[in-house]
Amino acid sequence: MKDQEMMEKAALDTYDIAILGGGIAGLTLALQIKKARPATSILVVEKQEHPVPESAHKVGESTVEIQAYYLRNMLGLQEHLQTQHLPKYGLRLFFSLDGNRNIARRVELGHAVLPPQRVSTYQLDRGRLENELGRVIHQEGIVFCDGSKVQRIDLQPANEFHRVSILHPDGVREVQARWVVDASGRNTLLQRQLRLAKKVSHHANAVWFRLDYRVDVNQWSNDAAWHERIHEGQRFLSTNHLMGPGYWVWIIPLASGSTSVGIVTDAKMHSFGEMNRFELALNWLHEHEPQCAEDIERHKDELQDFRVMKNYSYGCKQVFSDERWCLIGEAGVSLDPLYSPGGDLMAIANSLVSDLITNALDGEDIEDRAAIHNQLFLLFANSWLSTYERQYPLMGNAQIMTAKVIWDTAVYWAVPGLLYFHDKLRRVADSPSVIIQLARFSVLSEHVQAFFREWLVLAPSGASDAFIKYYDFDFMVRLHIGMTVELPDVELENQFIANVRFLEQLAGQLASVIIETFEHESQDETVQNQVQSWKADPFLAELIALYQQDSHEHPINSGWITLGRQKEYQYQEIAE
Ligand SMILES: Cc1cc2nc3c(=O)[nH]c(=O)nc-3n(C[C@H](O)[C@H](O)[C@H](O)COP(=O)(O)OP(=O)(O)OC[C@H]3O[C@@H](n4cnc5c(N)ncnc54)[C@H](O)[C@@H]3O)c2cc1C
Repeated sequence: MKDQEMMEKAALDTYDIAILGGGIAGLTLALQIKKARPATSILVVEKQEHPVPESAHKVGESTVEIQAYYLRNMLGLQEHLQTQHLPKYGLRLFFSLDGNRNIARRVELGHAVLPPQRVSTYQLDRGRLENELGRVIHQEGIVFCDGSKVQRIDLQPANEFHRVSILHPDGVREVQARWVVDASGRNTLLQRQLRLAKKVSHHANAVWFRLDYRVDVNQWSNDAAWHERIHEGQRFLSTNHLMGPGYWVWIIPLASGSTSVGIVTDAKMHSFGEMNRFELALNWLHEHEPQCAEDIERHKDELQDFRVMKNYSYGCKQVFSDERWCLIGEAGVSLDPLYSPGGDLMAIANSLVSDLITNALDGEDIEDRAAIHNQLFLLFANSWLSTYERQYPLMGNAQIMTAKVIWDTAVYWAVPGLLYFHDKLRRVADSPSVIIQLARFSVLSEHVQAFFREWLVLAPSGASDAFIKYYDFDFMVRLHIGMTVELPDVELENQFIANVRFLEQLAGQLASVIIETFEHESQDETVQNQVQSWKADPFLAELIALYQQDSHEHPINSGWITLGRQKEYQYQEIAE
């Protein structure tokens, strides 16, 4: 046996931390902790042998700002991201219209100009990223045991090491560690062992595949005006979503030249049995998204894989414990991929876990810290889940869904985005005002999601020919860039309070505009009953009053609720 191998074998016995699962969550946590506390000894155990395949490895390819910031700024992977992956041109949605045969007429929501570099996001080739992370953590002195399977975890009481049994190509090995972090993804090793699984009432399914070919929505139309809508950047670099009642289809470009395509459906509205093989999925696309299907049909010989996942959403009762175990990534919770929150929840959990464990290893009593971090993480996870639960029917309505996406995005930039970019989440306990605002925001969020559902019952769908740009609305630009301004703590707290107040104003505007529209436009009994019920709701009344009060000084363009109509009106006014 070579010297290095002997040293590794000896070192394999006792660690500060054993991370069980070396997917993106486990690998990044190892790197983060090593950077924060270089003396920490870390073992990562991964079932698959490295290098893993590129292009067709895992889902989780589209990033949003928190995950992108985590990988780029906190882990220092900027160069790798910029040279080995694609820049993402935001989330772009096309809403259903007349059988979906002409993309140029579908209502489109997206960017027309490139967002600033400091809020860049990426389209990740997951295999390529995990291979790089495997290489980097090895270089950093972390023991990376790939091709090895965790067989058993024996959690021990305080002052004793936890024990882990690993099936290695050379046989079974026992290791011990002060901390055990489950990063085994959907295998949920510890969640199952500790019976922490929590059912959710969101039931949705996904199927996806990769093609060794670039699917480019820009090729689907020759309409010059439609092409000219985009001033900078290229549509294909967006995470393009084709939306319909109870479904969305993702189209994500990968740096290898491949494209990832996925169909995600509400389990009650679309039968999983009609799409769980490639030929069936293609038939389903022919029926619902014919332009997409025709493009894929021409290139089906370039199919690289086909995967399915039924009922992918689940919660968890507890994710971090002062008994020296934590669950991260999908070993903890799995929500819904519509806005790509998986990578964000991973970044948030990893940062909280890194804080928890490094403090514990430095000798701090972490009982309170563990409880607070655990509650905070579950608060975000539960709040995000409510943006998906029972909301898939909205996807067939361009106006409501556009308002919802803008609302959800504004919330994301104003609340978790602002706090994460300022490294505030792990320090919320020091700021009672932030905790109060978080609780307030959580109630607000539930109400607005319910309002969207009630609105759907009244509203017809079928809008066409509109292009809504995130940056049409100055508040979107302000919230997006606002994440990155690096405020000192006191100013950050004030900004956070202002952001929550602004969201209340925005919600008040939503309620006010919709109530007024229906009150005057329809005498239908159902409509009028709903209007009366909204008007009698004290929470909505408070939001509307706040909106009216704040709007004198800070008016908001209501085009985000009305498919941009007020914007056109304003332009006319200016032109006149
Ligand atoms: C349909 C769908 C689409 C998605 N799209 C996106 C998206 O666009 N953007 C986004 O951010 N998120 C997305 N997600 C979520 C994203 O996939 C996850 O957040 C992310 O992959 C979780 O990473 P992880 O490291 O926890 O799990 P994984 O990447 O699955 O890693 C777990 C690792 O543990 C290993 N392992 C398991 N059991 C053992 C064992 N016994 N011993 C040793 N090793 C073991 C596995 O081999 C694996 O490598 C999507 C999810 C779904 C379901």
